[in-house]
Amino acid sequence: MYRGRFAPSPTGPLHFGSLVAAVGSYLEAKTHGGEWLVRIDDGDTPRNVPGAADDILRTLEAFGLGWDGAVLYQSEQVDAYLAAIEQLQAGGALYPCACSRREIADSAVQGIDGPVYPGTCRNGLPPTRPANAPRALRIRTQDAVMAFDDGVQGHITQDVEHAVGDFVVMRADGLTAYQLAVVVDDAAQGITNVVRGADLLDSTPRQIWLQQQLKVATPCYAHLPVALNAQGEKLSKQTHAVAIDRNQPVPELINALAFLHHAPPPELRNAEIGDLWEWALRNWRLARLPPVRGAVAYL
Ligand code: GLU
Repeated sequence: MYRGRFAPSPTGPLHFGSLVAAVGSYLEAKTHGGEWLVRIDDGDTPRNVPGAADDILRTLEAFGLGWDGAVLYQSEQVDAYLAAIEQLQAGGALYPCACSRREIADSAVQGIDGPVYPGTCRNGLPPTRPANAPRALRIRTQDAVMAFDDGVQGHITQDVEHAVGDFVVMRADGLTAYQLAVVVDDAAQGITNVVRGADLLDSTPRQIWLQQQLKVATPCYAHLPVALNAQGEKLSKQTHAVAIDRNQPVPELINALAFLHHAPPPELRNAEIGDLWEWALRNWRLARLPPVRGAVAYL
């Protein structure tokens, strides 16, 4: 049984970039006769914007993007994250780290996602650390050479130790890091297929590593090209992406489908949203997407 999901972070209203991920994951699930779940990634509490989660859900409804089952909120999964951390700790995979961002940046080489952790605390906290220094928990990544076949991007390999280094699974502020939360949630929800933006492609080897350490199944992955603005920046709250107009779902959905290489025929320009979905479900082929990580969205 195919089970997919869409996992927006409630940092603002749905914008075109996240609509593309919602539409792609929905069509892929529904054309496989599968379920499509919605999860609100509100675990990074300082970034949550009040009201954004409800606003996103209302927008999905207005687009006819109906989800299966109850919406899962990361903020309610803390016990599951702590259980996973205990499991990793029992296996000796984690160690506390008291390095500041500054210290890491000073001594690290650049990796794919910021500085590569130089391993300062891997064999114990340096004796100069004050006893009450904030402690993050990192996972060891020796031998974490990960490989997988992405449904859009093709064969991907990554040596996590060299590309990222030992990475944080629990932050110094006590919050579970995204990488661990997403792995625990996907496993708990029985997700078989993850379809999301290619901005997360570089995170996937870390997530597969965590799945292996936690002995849970690895889903199939497909990373869609992300929507870029004319400056080549990912559409996001930070780049002031315009919120989706939920009163105009038809033109917005046409744009999202066109971005995903499924431009509907011109006679559907004034169609009802249901007719548009019917056309999209009949015509959707993931294989039509080119293996690119980003493309300019001409809106
Ligand atoms: N919440 C993440 C985001 O909005 C997506 C997480 C995921 O799909 O794994 O970027």
